[in-house]
Amino acid sequence: MQQSIKNDERKPKQKKQKIDLVKNKPPYLDDIYACLQCGYCNSVCPVYRETGWESLTPRGKVFLLRHLTTKDSFFDKILGKRITDYLTGKGKISLEEAMQKIFTCTLCSRCQTICHVDIDFHQYWLEIRKWMVENGINPPQNSMEMYKSIDKKEFMNPFLEPATKRDEWYRDDYQLPEKADVVYFIGCVTSYNEYQLLLNTLKVFTSAELDFTTLGIDEMCCGAVNTMTGQWGNFKKIAEYNVEQIKKRGATKVVTGCPGCYRALRKYRKFVKFDIKILHTTEIVADLIKNKKLVLTKEFKEKNLPILYHDPCELGRIIQYEGKNLFDAPRYILKNIPGINDFLEFSNNQMDSICCGGGGGLKAFNYDLTTDMVLRKVDEAIELGAKTIVSACPNCKTQFSDGVKLKNEKIENSEEKVKIKVMDVLDIVAKSI
Ligand code: SF4
Ligand code: SF4
Repeated sequence: MQQSIKNDERKPKQKKQKIDLVKNKPPYLDDIYACLQCGYCNSVCPVYRETGWESLTPRGKVFLLRHLTTKDSFFDKILGKRITDYLTGKGKISLEEAMQKIFTCTLCSRCQTICHVDIDFHQYWLEIRKWMVENGINPPQNSMEMYKSIDKKEFMNPFLEPATKRDEWYRDDYQLPEKADVVYFIGCVTSYNEYQLLLNTLKVFTSAELDFTTLGIDEMCCGAVNTMTGQWGNFKKIAEYNVEQIKKRGATKVVTGCPGCYRALRKYRKFVKFDIKILHTTEIVADLIKNKKLVLTKEFKEKNLPILYHDPCELGRIIQYEGKNLFDAPRYILKNIPGINDFLEFSNNQMDSICCGGGGGLKAFNYDLTTDMVLRKVDEAIELGAKTIVSACPNCKTQFSDGVKLKNEKIENSEEKVKIKVMDVLDIVAKSI
């Protein structure tokens, strides 16, 4: 199983380095200077909501980057002194601290919804992390360990789990063909941590008589962790490897239930010829329902109603910024489940959805902060009277399950324990077959 990840207490050993960030300018430099420091973005940032630290807000980070990359900034000139001197190391903030601030972010892109000067934050934070790593500033220690684990043939996943165990949950029960029209790209979190979701997805595809297969133990991590943590060194190699495996199966489509894998697969096209259609499981299942290839008959249990849908950042807002609408497919499926006539939504939903804390690799770096984020979401679910929280992302499922568990650990009286189930849309579909 996935190894427990706690706060990254071991500080990365940053070598004394001569890093000239003024010379090696970052991408999106215009945005760094365009920022008005208006602070609109602070009000929507989940990190700021939990910490109250200005230096961790989008505005604070942009301000930091401005200083990191400028010799004499506007503010230095006004004050007549350099506020921070990163280049000589005499300043108030070291490069390591700067890295920690930039990485204290779930990459949720909610800041983009409100930015006064339209900074493309869904790209911006990724590019800044990449630029930092390329300039010799180490990412958090846990992220580097994940990178190494993915790179090793015996693992090919970020969790140091044996590659040979990737298909252990289903290999005996499903004899899948060598070639098929659809490849189900399962992803590391679902393969090693959310096996129930994996089995339910296989059940749904089989019931619909979908011509599909998986990559079995030949699947390698999609590389999303690497792109999120600025470590792009082996991403091309990962893309080439996975694309070769998908093509070997003769597929015309690849489908995944993980929004992180979904976005990573789309990025492969920048590195390798990959004209196979990429779909999220909710898209393919919505189509199967529409075309009556998947017939849902069993009623959803009344005691688990009402359900509350959470929009995963990467499947909703971020993919919308990348030109695709995936808000509708999960909602269409839920409305077609017998017994579910309607469902609740968080007060902030779709483009305004608030991250559960599972994104951006933050959980491996600052576990406590991501816990605060999910507990706040669980509190809202309780207030709304939800009996089931549903999402369409294995990371969100893990995060909400942990959130409900942690909430209950704080409640001593068993009568008062929170009785909220956590499910993926595909779990619900499988139950109604
Ligand atoms: S991406 Fe999300 S967590 Fe990161 S700075 Fe923007 S709003 Fe805050
Ligand atoms: S909303 Fe945009 S312009 Fe305003 S402080 Fe935030 S990043 Fe800068």
